[in-house]
Amino acid sequence: MNSNIHAIDVHGHFGQYDHQHTDPHVCRFMSASADEVHQRALACGIGTTIVSPLRGLLPRFHGRAYEGNIDTQQAVDVHPGLRQWVIIDPRDARTFDQAATMLAGPRCMGIKIHPEEHGYPIREYGDALFGFAAEHHAVVLTHSGEENSLPADFIPFADRYPQVVLILAHLGHGPEQDPTHQVRAIQQSRAGNVYTDTSSSASILPNLIEWAVQEIGCERLLFGTDTPLYYAANQKARIDFADITDDEKLSILSGNALRVIEKLQVTNASS
Ligand SMILES: [Zn+2]
Repeated sequence: MNSNIHAIDVHGHFGQYDHQHTDPHVCRFMSASADEVHQRALACGIGTTIVSPLRGLLPRFHGRAYEGNIDTQQAVDVHPGLRQWVIIDPRDARTFDQAATMLAGPRCMGIKIHPEEHGYPIREYGDALFGFAAEHHAVVLTHSGEENSLPADFIPFADRYPQVVLILAHLGHGPEQDPTHQVRAIQQSRAGNVYTDTSSSASILPNLIEWAVQEIGCERLLFGTDTPLYYAANQKARIDFADITDDEKLSILSGNALRVIEKLQVTNASS
């Protein structure tokens, strides 16, 4: 696969990885400034990375979404290859108002939610979040794969709000290492508005991406890296060398993101 194509990473972060149960060296390794994230992406042919701030998610239960969103707005303004996900923590009312304002800007592509790091079950907050996203025509990228964020638990909301595009992050990540949760959720959804991204470390498994393409079609997969937690070039190589056709790689690396995140297209064309 030629690496000249301008890939779009729908799942990036920047800032400090701060996790109490993770070795300090590893925390340092998983941290990077917006500038480093940008450079690592460009070095491997990722032209656009949509980021959310680690400080808005971590440390667990103590992320500062509101402050992190301000950092992100500043970062995407100075790095041409970066775009923003605005984080909403549904228990911090300020983040809804802030998101309403930021979503109106040209470089904010949608909403990021993280039921695990913020500590709430999506079952309880789905209506508030999806109702808001529907009202603002916003794409939602959510962490998925643990107790508060089981892929299947999002589907009733995705069906109830069919105008909301939902990306279930981390294809292959799930309880008891069952790699099928995101794919099964997409198969259960009736409205056709649910996607997954390839940002999990499970992407190193041979056959995972290939199996997902067979099950749900390449149109449902968006390229994501989880940079700087993982090395962006590794995740890119996994798709570049996947055992799928070049057309399928192209859809995963950029075509699907451009189709699904309409705002990205408009921004690209005008910047
Ligand atoms: Zn992430």
